[in-house]
Amino acid sequence: MNARGAQAQAGVLDAIERVDRLVADLREPELDVLLVATPVNVRYLTGFTGSNALLLIAADAPAGGLDGPGFHRFLTDFRYATQSADQVPDVFAREIVHDKLLDAVAQALEDAEGDAGRLGFDDAGLTVAQHAHLREQLPDAWELVPCGGMVERLRAIKDPGEIARIHAAAELADEALGHILERGLAGRTERDVAIDLELAMRRLGAEPSFPSIVASGAHGALPHAEARAERIARDVLVTIDWGALHDGYCSDCTRTYATGEGISARAREVYELVRSAQAQGLAAVRAGPSGVELDAVVREIIEEAGYGERFGHGLGHGVGMEVHEGPRLSRTAGDDPLLEGNVVTVEPGVYLPGECGVRIEDLLVVRADGHEVLTGLPKELTVIS
Ligand code: ZN
Ligand code: ZN
Repeated sequence: MNARGAQAQAGVLDAIERVDRLVADLREPELDVLLVATPVNVRYLTGFTGSNALLLIAADAPAGGLDGPGFHRFLTDFRYATQSADQVPDVFAREIVHDKLLDAVAQALEDAEGDAGRLGFDDAGLTVAQHAHLREQLPDAWELVPCGGMVERLRAIKDPGEIARIHAAAELADEALGHILERGLAGRTERDVAIDLELAMRRLGAEPSFPSIVASGAHGALPHAEARAERIARDVLVTIDWGALHDGYCSDCTRTYATGEGISARAREVYELVRSAQAQGLAAVRAGPSGVELDAVVREIIEEAGYGERFGHGLGHGVGMEVHEGPRLSRTAGDDPLLEGNVVTVEPGVYLPGECGVRIEDLLVVRADGHEVLTGLPKELTVIS
């Protein structure tokens, strides 16, 4: 088998395993079928990269077993007939729909399951209008059951193939930044640096996983600053937050640099505080603690230094097919423990309005007894003039 064939077969095995795990999760909410409508979730379960498709995942195995051909259903439109034939494994019966996909759901359900049952749907993904439309089309004896986040919960635990892809995206992003730093920062506009960084990622075969942030001086005090047409001064801090999207997976990283040795004593103090707090946050990451507990480790350090009010966002978030996904590391993240195979960021920041901002962000894989950092860039305060 050639490399492409082997890759395709691995993709099919991934899809079958993921679908099997999802089917097991349908038992507790007593669903007969789960409707999967979010494109990223469809891709995760089937490998299909097109933009318009729905899945119907059935809970009960027919005589042929769960992996039997055509057990679950994949609906798309005629534009994707060839692509879906190539990408979607046989465990899904493919149907090319000539009208709205949602209109075909009721018919597909009746064909496969009869005129009554419980249909789970993602209440965070379906619009109110789509829900109303679906309700209208379904026989009365079909119950619509809100079941948000079922696929997202599976996605939060990455398999080795996914971790390798995220790692590759992170390495690519590191390399792209290296090209940018070689050209220097001071005297260039923030926007020019951001465009250059995005171009560098594209040349390396990726695209940006989100619009790059390049924020210098007082502008760095805005955590989600937009890169401006403003020139970067000497002797200020510059925060760069960027990521690559490669082979379906994202990276996310932040570094803060100085554009000269003459930065203010306060800027230096805040940088060292964030660096130390971030390092202690990293040290606490392993399977077991909750996102709330990890956030508290870092928040306490920043609070004790007197900057608690200036760290206004959560400590981090999951990263995978989307740049922001579960699990969350924040004051409101809930009690669920971090699990082996989660991929998360640790990104404390301190923002002083009118002065400066510092954020340092690494991407890491959670392991049973620790973690593995996927970001390769150093964190000592570095002057890039
Ligand atoms: Zn980031
Ligand atoms: Zn982030």
